[in-house]
Amino acid sequence: MISNELLKRFIYDVSVEDDTFEIIGKAFDKIGESYGITEVKATLLAPVTYCSKEAKSKEVILFKQQGSSQFAYCEEYVTREEGKVILNIYRLSDLPAFSEEEKEDLKPILNIIYMHCEKWKLIHLVRDIGKMDSLTGLPNSGGFLSYIDEQLKEGALLQYNTYYFNLTRFGLINKRFGVKETDRIIARYASFVLEFLQEGERLGRLGGDNFVALIRKERNDAFLELISGVTTYGILDGKKEPVTIGAVTGILEIDESITDCGTVLNDCAMAMNIAKHVKKTAYAYASKELKESIMRRNEMIVEFPNAIKNHEFQAFYQPKVSISDYVIVGAEALVRWKKDNGFVSPGEFIPAFEQNGMVCALDFYILEQVCMDIRKWLKEGMEPVRISVNFSRKHLTNKNLAKDIMQVLKKYDVDSKYIEIELTETVDEEEAGLLIAFMNQMRKYNILMTIDDFGTGYSSLNMLRSFPVDVLKLDKSLIDKMEESDQIILSNVVRMASELKMDVVAEGVETWEQVDYLKMVKCGVVQGFLFDRPMPKQQFEEKMKQKKYAIE
Ligand code: C2E
Ligand code: CA
Ligand code: CA
Repeated sequence: MISNELLKRFIYDVSVEDDTFEIIGKAFDKIGESYGITEVKATLLAPVTYCSKEAKSKEVILFKQQGSSQFAYCEEYVTREEGKVILNIYRLSDLPAFSEEEKEDLKPILNIIYMHCEKWKLIHLVRDIGKMDSLTGLPNSGGFLSYIDEQLKEGALLQYNTYYFNLTRFGLINKRFGVKETDRIIARYASFVLEFLQEGERLGRLGGDNFVALIRKERNDAFLELISGVTTYGILDGKKEPVTIGAVTGILEIDESITDCGTVLNDCAMAMNIAKHVKKTAYAYASKELKESIMRRNEMIVEFPNAIKNHEFQAFYQPKVSISDYVIVGAEALVRWKKDNGFVSPGEFIPAFEQNGMVCALDFYILEQVCMDIRKWLKEGMEPVRISVNFSRKHLTNKNLAKDIMQVLKKYDVDSKYIEIELTETVDEEEAGLLIAFMNQMRKYNILMTIDDFGTGYSSLNMLRSFPVDVLKLDKSLIDKMEESDQIILSNVVRMASELKMDVVAEGVETWEQVDYLKMVKCGVVQGFLFDRPMPKQQFEEKMKQKKYAIE
């Protein structure tokens, strides 16, 4: 029989610390001895949640004594949130099994142990809440990072890649379903992705539509495939509507160089941003090269204002050639950045300047330079060819764009027949409206408009019917292979363009075979390294004086 004195003592001893199990062992010492108990083992079963498909269990030995032992008694408690606490008692093997009275005696003690286990769980739950995203039950950034940290310390992290992914078209989903239902869609999305996870892998949510994951390296392709399009549903007016959610992802392949988990998410986020805003691809890997290129971009952005002031940007000219007689009929102005005794090509800096709008200032700077050059040629008695200037689509939000361009022409007294503007096509409906408005104004000013990179994106000839376009510039990729299927497309494009009264220019022409091929499909003008690379003004002047290429 356990005396009241002993019971009180036990309650008191156990209540000293809530956060450890050792305290039970110490408090139980006397009782254990008087009952010949050798071991008390607790199994804590957490309930099934969003985050764990199976109930998680934890085993703790609360009390242990030497001596050969046998199983003697088990008490099972169901917790409020439908988890379980199971207490198993072992006794010296030469003692008989517990009698019913002895079990009754032990019960208050076991109840106290059970309550202690519950308290311990609660304390840890409260701690975990700080590491958990309340909407999905997934780890938040803190929870995810502490798991990565654990894996790193155990030397297990090398098996994994980390991912940072941002869901696509989420603004649209929000608009369509409203905030509350969008939250539910996110939770459904999370549990769908969670299904894919295997032991040791983790999914986390950083808030909004940003997720992170830790996935085994060999499952990289399968994971990317999965998140490229997850179909779940949203409820609209009481009806289930399917929703497909894609993602833009930054991936970090963990290697030995990673000794601190602090930069892991940053690196992934950086790669995600590059994929989303620069490369415009579904994913990008965070590599050393990528980091360096971002640093270079940031440097360039900082250097830009001074570079403009110091006239470090220069227009190069690449001739456009009539395919029938090789006469130079125009040229394209292409910007170069004079730096450290060399020229940096626009592929390196235009994307950086596009991201923050600096490209607009640069385009006007080049337009001014071209106008100045034309003015100079006219003054020297030369008849210049028409020069096309590239304008970024970033200008389209400027309602005064056409006027602003016209003002530059006026400033240098350059007739509009000498200038042409190249713009790439757009998918965005809103942008398409702005583009049409801009093109209509340009038509009033008699400045020719070219659609650049035709055939790379989404532009279709049908769409072009609504655009007041003068010139179509075929992208290099259309003539790279010269396969029969390309030929059919090309000849159709040229035929329809001529019906719509558009000229067609092929760019990136490098071989005579391509020239013959383009002649066959009746493309009128070519531009490419076969004739000339982009060149500085003085050299181009000489070309213009010669007027044509001496080719038989
Ligand atoms: P883009 O407008 O499509 O210009 C054609 C690019 O193809 C130029 O590259 C040109 O040098 C290159 N190219 C011409 N012929 C050949 C060829 O036969 N083979 C190959 N492989 N390439 C050829 P570049 O000068 O490096 O310019 C790259 C891009 O940068 C341009 O593509 C354009 O999108 C952009 N860009 C250039 N200058 C400006 C500018 O002043 N403003 C804006 N917004 N963008 C510019
Ligand atoms: Ca161009
Ligand atoms: Ca182009």
